[in-house]
Amino acid sequence: MSNKLVLVLNCGSSSLKFAVINATDGNEIISGLAECFNLPDARIKWKFDGKKESTNLPENSAHSAAISFIVEDIIKKIDGLEAQFIAVGHRVVHGGEKFTKSVIIDKDVLEGIEACASLAPLHNPAAIMGIKAAQAAFPSLPQTAVFDTAFHQTMPAKAFMYAIPTNLYKEKAVRRYGMHGTSHLYVSREAAKVLNQPINETNVITAHLGNGGSITAVKNGESIDTSMGLTPLEGLVMGTRCGDLDPSIIEHLVSREGYTLSGVMDMLQKQSGLLGLSGISSDLREVIGNYEKGHEGAILAVDVFCYRLAKYIAAYSVPLGRIDAIVFTGGIGENSAFIREKVLSSLTIFGYKVDADKNQVATLGESGIITEENSPIAMVIATNEEWVIAQDSAELVSA
Ligand code: ADP
Repeated sequence: MSNKLVLVLNCGSSSLKFAVINATDGNEIISGLAECFNLPDARIKWKFDGKKESTNLPENSAHSAAISFIVEDIIKKIDGLEAQFIAVGHRVVHGGEKFTKSVIIDKDVLEGIEACASLAPLHNPAAIMGIKAAQAAFPSLPQTAVFDTAFHQTMPAKAFMYAIPTNLYKEKAVRRYGMHGTSHLYVSREAAKVLNQPINETNVITAHLGNGGSITAVKNGESIDTSMGLTPLEGLVMGTRCGDLDPSIIEHLVSREGYTLSGVMDMLQKQSGLLGLSGISSDLREVIGNYEKGHEGAILAVDVFCYRLAKYIAAYSVPLGRIDAIVFTGGIGENSAFIREKVLSSLTIFGYKVDADKNQVATLGESGIITEENSPIAMVIATNEEWVIAQDSAELVSA
C-alpha cells in the first residue's frame, strides 16, 4: 500500500518552511527550511531519515528557486517518494471572512487569497508565490490552502468587532480575525482526547506561545474569542511585537516626538515585546538566562509577558463559563516550565496547583497534564500544524 503523502509549504516573505507528511499518521518524512531569500547567502537545510543536510541556494534565490530545489534535488532523488504524493498543502495566513475552512485551490481561490493580501501584506503575497511555484512544479497534483484565520471564523460579533464606526467593518473589512488557527484547532482537539471528552462538549483556553503568540477561548470545540486582531500585532506580549497598546501612542510619537508612521510601526513589530522590554533578546531562553542573573530588563520582560498572559486567561473565563483545561503550546508553551508555573501560580482565583515534576517532564515535544490531581487542569500539547494541513488536504482530495 502506498502512503498518502502531502508536501506542506509554509511561505514567509523571506523564508519557506516545508515538510513531507504522511496524512494518515502524521509521520514527518522530510522537514526543512529555505531562508535568506533575495540575499547573497540564500540557503536551505533539511532533515530526511534522521540525517541533516544543508547547502547554499543560488544567490538571491526566492520561493520558486527554493521549490525547484526541494522538488529536483530532494524529493526526486528519493526512490518512489514522488509517486506517493496526493497533494501540496499551503499554509495561508489570512483568509479574511471568505475562507472559513480549507479549500482546494482554483482560480477563484487564488483571487480570494490575493484579495486578502491587504490584510496580511507580508504573508499572503508570499503564499501566492509559493502556490504558483508549486503549481508549476507539480502540474498534476491538487493544491490546497489551509488558513490561519479560518478556525476563528466562529467568533461572534461581540468578540470580533472593534468599537469603531461599523462602516469600517462593512466597507473596509476592519475587524478582529485572529491567527494561529490551525494550531489552536489541533491542540484543542488533542486536549479533548486527553480529557476523554467529546470535542463538541469541551471548553479550553489554548495559549500558542512562540515568537508570535496568541490565546484562544474554545467553547464546545469552536473558537469564540482570540487575542490577535486585524493583524498579528494585537494581544499578548511576543518576541518582538508589543501586543495590546493604546493607539494614541502612535499619534503621540508621530505628531509630538518626530517619529515617522513607518518608523513607529517597525518599532512596534520588530523592536518591542520581550526584546524591547529586556533590551537583550526576543528569544525567551536568553531572557530567562538573564532573569536568573537578576538582570532588571529581563525581569521586567518576563513579568509583563506572564502578567498579560494570565490576564487574558482570566478574561476568557467570561465567554467560556467553565474551563476544562488551559493548554500550552508553541516553542515557549511546550518548553518553558518556568513560564507555565509563573502564569498558573498567578491565577490564584482559579486554584491551579502545578505539579513540579510533571511540569518539568512536559518539554521537548512531550505532552501531558502538568497540574496536581486535585487542581483544575492545565496541560502541554505539542502542536502539529503540518499534520492538520496534511489531513485537511487528504480529506479535500478524497472528497
Ligand atoms: P515561531 O513562532 O517562530 O514558530 P517557536 O514556536 O519556535 O517560534 O518558539 C520560539 C520561542 O520558544 C523562543 O522565544 C524560544 O526562546 C522559545 N523556547 C524554545 N525552547 C525553549 C526552552 N527550552 N525554554 C524556554 N523557551 C524556549
